[in-house]
Amino acid sequence: MLKEKFADYEHRPQQLEMAEEVYSCLKNKGKLLVEAGTGVGKSFSYLVPVILSREKTIISTASIALQDQLVHKDLITLKAIIPHNFTFAILKGKNNYLCLKREKEFVELGDAYTRFREWASATNTGDKDELPFIPDFWFRVCGDSVDCSGKECPFYDDCFYYRHYRYLYEVDILVTNHHILVYDILSEFNLLPFHNQLIIDEAHQIENVISDVFGTILNRSRLFWLLYRLKGLKIAVEHLFEPIESFFKGKGLQTQTTFPIPENIITGLRELKGLLSLDKIINRINTSKTVIAGETEPDTGSPDAANDMRDKAETTINYVKSLSRDIEDFVEQGDNERVYYIDWNKGYMELKSNLVESHIPFEKLIQNYESVVMTSATLTTCRDFSYLKDRLGIEGFKERLIGTPFDYKKQALLYIDKGLPPPDKGNSELFQRESLKSIEGLINASKGRALVLFTSYNHLNFTARNINIDYPFKSQGDMPPARLIEWFKETANSVLLATTTFWQGIDIKGEKLSLVVIVKMPFGSPGDPVYDERCRRLRDRWFRDLALPSAILMLRQGFGRLIRGTEDRGVVAILDSRLVTASYSKTIITSLPKMEIVHTIDDVKRFFEKGGLNGSNSSD
Ligand code: SF4
Repeated sequence: MLKEKFADYEHRPQQLEMAEEVYSCLKNKGKLLVEAGTGVGKSFSYLVPVILSREKTIISTASIALQDQLVHKDLITLKAIIPHNFTFAILKGKNNYLCLKREKEFVELGDAYTRFREWASATNTGDKDELPFIPDFWFRVCGDSVDCSGKECPFYDDCFYYRHYRYLYEVDILVTNHHILVYDILSEFNLLPFHNQLIIDEAHQIENVISDVFGTILNRSRLFWLLYRLKGLKIAVEHLFEPIESFFKGKGLQTQTTFPIPENIITGLRELKGLLSLDKIINRINTSKTVIAGETEPDTGSPDAANDMRDKAETTINYVKSLSRDIEDFVEQGDNERVYYIDWNKGYMELKSNLVESHIPFEKLIQNYESVVMTSATLTTCRDFSYLKDRLGIEGFKERLIGTPFDYKKQALLYIDKGLPPPDKGNSELFQRESLKSIEGLINASKGRALVLFTSYNHLNFTARNINIDYPFKSQGDMPPARLIEWFKETANSVLLATTTFWQGIDIKGEKLSLVVIVKMPFGSPGDPVYDERCRRLRDRWFRDLALPSAILMLRQGFGRLIRGTEDRGVVAILDSRLVTASYSKTIITSLPKMEIVHTIDDVKRFFEKGGLNGSNSSD
């Protein structure tokens, strides 16, 4: 059917194989883990069975790019060719929609505000994606769960978010993201509208999303939000700004992730808690509410204003209660299932906690669905699902591994640098200097057209400062990620230096991207409190059961950026000599696609000069 409708459709047996597996899983109300290599076209492989099943289905992805592709491209395409009728919609977080209540309260001057007002008075959806520009005050006018009283809100009937949300009960396929999927567990499954079939794409990311959503953040913004709200309720709080500012400035502390939270910070937090007197604040809000209810407040006057103030008082009380619980939690640090630590954001300290093990929430999640399919291009190491199964406590899932339709032996070359010093701790400056020469040599060989992936900003910044090449380059952070990718695509022979965000999800087909340099094996970094705690709990199995498999999955993600189509040709260069020397090197190599391996930049040059493989030594 697809072939009849689309001239450029390529028949891929792997795509059909996956579709059959997913169809059988949904039909038999089963559970399936399916890894589908790059190029399989896995979205069609699950969308077609989902549509044919005629069951209500939730599809969750990690990235906005994939959600957009599903809703704005794939499902529209399939609707045009599949004969039976079906409906679909996307559910995004509340902060993607204009909040009528907050918009009413917000006034600003300037051109951006005028253009925003024009849009706000004309829009039928209130969806931020409709805006031709994102005003920097968007966060003050968008939906905000702490400031939203739902059905109690005076604007509930017309609310953009809730109008869209009510419509979702009618649709057949709902596309959402992992955060909302996991918040649904916290809401006792009252957030998402139906729970029949679940497809989790980019499933390798679900563990970390669970860890984040089941954690907490306590920062200056949360406390300042409360103070501004209290000021609006005519409660005197001016004297509290300075101590909060001073506490979160974390004077004397090094601005780096710190675990455990030092005792003096806990003492400071206790003092701040005493100063805030949140119990007294609740009493004062209640008093203020009573005054408003009697409409004796001179400034309010009208019943509408009184309703508004009452709504504000209610949401503020809820906010104070949740803030009070979180402060207490950081003071006590009594939940052994979580790790508590300090992080930094724009010069301010943040207290954070994350869930260490995700088994229990994950089990709760999948029990709520009749059928579950988890998929990604990277779920296995050495063709084995054990790592993912261990991390999430997965049992009773059928496992299927579907290879890539790309011919890596013909399309790609793997360069491993044997001459560089190992990038071990203590060796990093030497490694930074020496790897720079290799990066320059490789980029000259490929004439730019390169994505260089680092594991740290430190190394990226060193390279950006010192690199000497004749090709245009930019670094992550020079502009927002989506614009950087556009710049890379539009600029001839360009080079992109990047870290974490760019290891996955980037899809650049053709010769624009002909070289991917992986500077260092992406092992989890010591100093990451969640990773460290997971390692500690695994004792002497930490390397085999966590460090190595998680690094392999990440490596495979970075690797997957290169070949995106059957016509693509290119080189993946790994500058980490441990891939040749370490005892675990074979495990890594066998997890990668089979392809020719070379060790000199001259081989890479020849590959590009000939536009194909150079016939040098193969290690298959
Ligand atoms: S219900 Fe009210 S407060 Fe909540 S998002 Fe809608 S308009 Fe805003």
